Amino acid sequence: MIQVLAVASEIVPLIKTGGLADVAGALPPAIAAAGAKTTTMVPGYPAVMQALTGAVAVHTFADLFGGPARVVRGNAGSLDIIALDAPHLFARAGNPYLGADGREWADNGIRFAGLGAAAAAIAAGLVPGMEFDILHAHDWQAAMAVVYLHFHDGPRPGSVLTVHNLAFQGRYPASLFPRLGLPDTAFALNGLEYHGDVGFLKGGLSFAGRITTVSPTYAREIAGIDNGMGLDGLLRHRAGVVSGILNGIDDTLWNPATDSLIPAQYGRGRTGKRPVNKAALQQRMGLEPNPDALLIGVVSRLTSQKGLDLLVDQIDSMVAAGMQLAVLGAGDPDLEQAFLAAAEWHLGSVGCIVGYDEPVAHLMQAGSDALLVPSRFEPCGLTQLYALRYGAIPVVSRVGGLSDSVIDANEAALVAGVATGIQFWPATADGLGTALHRLRTLWQDRPVWDRVQRNGMAADVSWRGSASRYVALYRSLLADRS
Ligand code: ADP
Repeated sequence: MIQVLAVASEIVPLIKTGGLADVAGALPPAIAAAGAKTTTMVPGYPAVMQALTGAVAVHTFADLFGGPARVVRGNAGSLDIIALDAPHLFARAGNPYLGADGREWADNGIRFAGLGAAAAAIAAGLVPGMEFDILHAHDWQAAMAVVYLHFHDGPRPGSVLTVHNLAFQGRYPASLFPRLGLPDTAFALNGLEYHGDVGFLKGGLSFAGRITTVSPTYAREIAGIDNGMGLDGLLRHRAGVVSGILNGIDDTLWNPATDSLIPAQYGRGRTGKRPVNKAALQQRMGLEPNPDALLIGVVSRLTSQKGLDLLVDQIDSMVAAGMQLAVLGAGDPDLEQAFLAAAEWHLGSVGCIVGYDEPVAHLMQAGSDALLVPSRFEPCGLTQLYALRYGAIPVVSRVGGLSDSVIDANEAALVAGVATGIQFWPATADGLGTALHRLRTLWQDRPVWDRVQRNGMAADVSWRGSASRYVALYRSLLADRS
C-alpha cells in the first residue's frame, strides 16, 4: 500500500467552506480501494479539535512560528487525521480564513506556512512509526508543505499538489519571507518569488513532483492567459507534470436512496416520490406549492466566479415565464441583497436563504427540477455532480469541470440518448437566457425531460475511475524517483 500524507485546510466532516472539503473527505476512502492509504493533516481549528476521536499527541513543536504546537493523531469517522493543534495559529472561532469582519486574518501567511512546515517535517519522517511515500498538498493553504519538503535535507517522499481553484493563491508581501525559515535561494523566480511578493501556490507549483487540477478541461484552461491567473507561464513550463483528474462525489453522503436529510428517498427509475421533496422545498423557500412550475435551484457561494449576477438579470423574465427560483448561498453582500430583494418582489416565485445550510443543500438537489451553475470559470464544480445523481437537470456554462461532466441536450445527444443536461456559452446574461429558454422547452416535452433526467441519474459521478488515476499518478511519481 502506498502511504500518503494529504494536507488540506478543510475536510468533511470536520470543517467545510467549499468543495475542497468534500474532496479532501471523499478521496481517502476512494483511493484506499485503489491501493493507497491516506492520513490527512489539517489545522487544529476548534471544530476539528472538538470532533476528533481517539486523539493522541505524537509530537510537540516547542515553537512553531510563535507558539507551541502539538501534532495530534486521531480519527473522524473512517478518516485518519493528523491535527496541528497550534492555538496561536488556529484556535479562533468562525471561518478558517476570515475574521468576524469578513476580512482575511492578518497572519494567514504565517498560519499556513506553519501548517506547511509541520506537514513537510512529518512527511519526511519526523514522527517515528509514521512513514510516507507521498505528500499530497491541496491548494495554496497546503502548498508550502511542498516548498518546505523541497528544501528538506535527507530522504523525502514525492510530492503532489492539487489545485482546486487557481484564483486563490496565497500571496504575501516579500517582508514575510525572512520569517519563513527557508534558505535565501527559495526566494527566486523558479521558487517562491512572485512579482516581488511571496506566492505560496506559486512556490508549490514550482517544486511539486506532480501537479493536478480537478478536471481535464480546467487543466488545459489554466495553461492559457485567459484563465491562468498570472501563473499560466509557469504551468506551461511545467506542462509535463500537469494533469486533470475529475472529482467524484461521496455517494455515502450524497445518495437520494439513503439521504436522511430529505423527506422522501428515491432512486433511478424510482422517482415517484421526488415530488414530495419538491413540495417540501417550495414550502421551505416560501414558493407557491405548484407541482407544475419549473423550479430552478442554485446552491453556491455568491461570488463573481459563480456568475450569479447574470442570473439576477434574468429573474423577471423567468418569473414571467412561470418558472420558480430557489437560491441557497452566501458571499458577496450585493448579490445576497439582490436575491433577497427578488424574493420579496416576486413573492411565491423566488425564494432565497442567505447562509450556509447543509440540510437545505440536500433538499435543493432532491426537490429542484433543474440546478443552475452559470460559472465564469469552474475548476470542477460539485453541485452539478450532486444534481446529476439527484435527478435535478444541470444547466451549466461550458467551462472547466462543468464542461467535462454534463452532456448537452443538443439534437445529436438527444438522438443518441446520452444527454444529461444543458450547457451554454458564453457565460453572459444572454447566453444564460437562451439556456433557460431551452430548459423550458425541454420541460414542456416531459418524455424527453424524463429521459435526460434518467441519463443523468445513471451517469457515473463516483470516485472509482478518478481514484485509480490518482493512484496511477502516485505510482508514476514513485517510479520516477526510484
Ligand atoms: P466551490 O468549492 O467553488 O464553492 P463546488 O461546487 O466545488 O464549489 O463545491 C461547493 C460545495 O459547497 C458543495 O458541496 C455545495 O453543496 C456546498 N455549498 C455551497 N454553498 C452552500 C450553502 N450556502 N449551503 C450549503 N452548502 C453549500
